[in-house]
Amino acid sequence: MSSRPRDPSCLFCRIVADEIPSTRVFEDDLLIAFRDIAPRSPTHVLLVPRDHIASAAKLTEDDAGLLGRIFASAAEIARSEGIADGGYRIVTNIGEWGGQSVDHLHFHLMGGRRFSWPPG
Ligand code: AMP
Repeated sequence: MSSRPRDPSCLFCRIVADEIPSTRVFEDDLLIAFRDIAPRSPTHVLLVPRDHIASAAKLTEDDAGLLGRIFASAAEIARSEGIADGGYRIVTNIGEWGGQSVDHLHFHLMGGRRFSWPPG
């Protein structure tokens, strides 16, 4: 698994370093998960790798372990948030047209309501 240095100007690197507060719901050696500051669903948690990776477009096969951990953690958080049975959504936005506003890889774990498809 490759390691990328922290970017001191990156908002999520600063949240990982606890320089900016967040409401953490999970953390381990590879990632943290915290509540989105502007939730778009009753449960809206962001899963963020500790390493600075700009987006999913920068992932390589070396990141397989990280990705496995992220999805396993998301399923665990979904269970602890009580949204696993009803179903939920995991989203990662890439670039401007994809709707990405923070350039540090993150996965939105959203649930607690029914979602439409396709997204807007
Ligand atoms: P995206 O637009 O896909 O890059 O997602 C970035 C997400 O980060 C948005 O849903 C924001 O509401 C959320 N966000 C921005 N600043 C913070 C913060 N300080 N704490 C928690 N969530 C944040």
